[in-house]
Amino acid sequence: MSKVLIIEDEKNLARFVQLELEHEKYEVTVENNGRKGLDLALSGKFDVLLLDLMLPELNGLEIARRVRQVSSTPIIMMTARDSIIDRVSGLDHGADDYIVKPFAIEELLARLRAVLRRSDLENKKMNAPQLHQKVVKYRDLTIETENRIVHRNDGKTVDLTKREYNLLMILIENRNNVVSREEILNKIWGEDAKIETNVVEVYIRYLRNKIDVAGQPSYIKTVRGTGYMVRDEEND
Ligand code: CA
Repeated sequence: MSKVLIIEDEKNLARFVQLELEHEKYEVTVENNGRKGLDLALSGKFDVLLLDLMLPELNGLEIARRVRQVSSTPIIMMTARDSIIDRVSGLDHGADDYIVKPFAIEELLARLRAVLRRSDLENKKMNAPQLHQKVVKYRDLTIETENRIVHRNDGKTVDLTKREYNLLMILIENRNNVVSREEILNKIWGEDAKIETNVVEVYIRYLRNKIDVAGQPSYIKTVRGTGYMVRDEEND
């Protein structure tokens, strides 16, 4: 079942499209706000994005541009303005297709099927071994595991030492589960290492200093008496 993210601030339209798509067995998520929509779009959970142009906080072109920096998820722009300029700039910013409002739902369905078919073909090509590059995402971080590069959605690289990187990956591989200090210690320093578990706390602090964003909850949650975890949701 293909997962569709609709970022559209006209709630009636968003709802209408959602119901129609659900009827066609798509799994649909709707977000009305541009900035929140971008965060969702970057979660890597969706097969296709349906993007309005004019949105609160962050417009559709900007969302498309930022998504394209890190992923090839197909994007269909929905625009009320049928001008050549908008179409061209939508496609320039990385949209795969566009549809002009008001549109017939059949047209949207046809375009969805077309971009999904193309992306399926692309994925099959991408998965050829010599091209394979595994990309892991967490919050606004994108991790290219083959060359061990971590960057943010704004394109900035996060410089991690080998140990910090390994620590981050252990947490991300166990996403939504607590990883104990002992487990971290064993995996990074080895079972025989004569190291106190508080060295783990020190490394967690180094890592937080590099990946956390000021004013936001830490990317790494401390589970008292147990260990640490990273989670998909920011809220407890
Ligand atoms: Ca709008």
